[in-house]
Amino acid sequence: MGRYIGSKCRLCRREGVKLFLKGDRCYSDKCALSRRPYAPGQHGRFRRRATQFAIHLREKQKAKRIYGVREAQFRRYVEMAKKKKGVTGESLLKILERRLDNVVYRAGFAFSRDQARQLITHGHFLVNGRHLNVPSYLTKEGDIIEVRPQSKDKLRELIKGASERRPLPSWLNRDLEALRIQVASEPSLEDLDQSIQTSLIVEFYSR
Ligand code: SF4
Repeated sequence: MGRYIGSKCRLCRREGVKLFLKGDRCYSDKCALSRRPYAPGQHGRFRRRATQFAIHLREKQKAKRIYGVREAQFRRYVEMAKKKKGVTGESLLKILERRLDNVVYRAGFAFSRDQARQLITHGHFLVNGRHLNVPSYLTKEGDIIEVRPQSKDKLRELIKGASERRPLPSWLNRDLEALRIQVASEPSLEDLDQSIQTSLIVEFYSR
């Protein structure tokens, strides 16, 4: 299955919640969900009673869309989470948080995860001193992510704007002068997205 290239706002309207996929626009009154708070399509305004399956499915889709992960990879993350000690749902969110594109976004080096992904694939970042253009790379404690020297002038303004937008989570350190991020620890429970009901997702894949 290819990458989704349709309207991002449509995804929010389908899930009925803001997924913050478009950076600045999501915080403005131009947000499509604020203007049209119903599902897209001809029958979007009609509310149907959700089945249990639909409830589980929607939660899974919501998480996938927030982090911009495709089905096969998301399924792999669920399997990885199942093998870890502790609550599977929490492990799943921690894995998603550790993705390189998410770290760049969370640290305020991009306005959205999509933008973070693009900056990474265009080769603007070094991880532990080496070029890495793989947005799905799972960062680990102690990793240093930095803008490569040739890109610093180009990205400085963008990062300045994006970092003002976002408070830094406790598991990341950032140096806005050197344009460097350090993964200080693994994400703590408080840092995880509380709006995602991970138990529904785990149940979805346990059917
Ligand atoms: Fe979602 Fe952002 Fe579009 Fe609003 S502007 S519908 S939050 S992607």
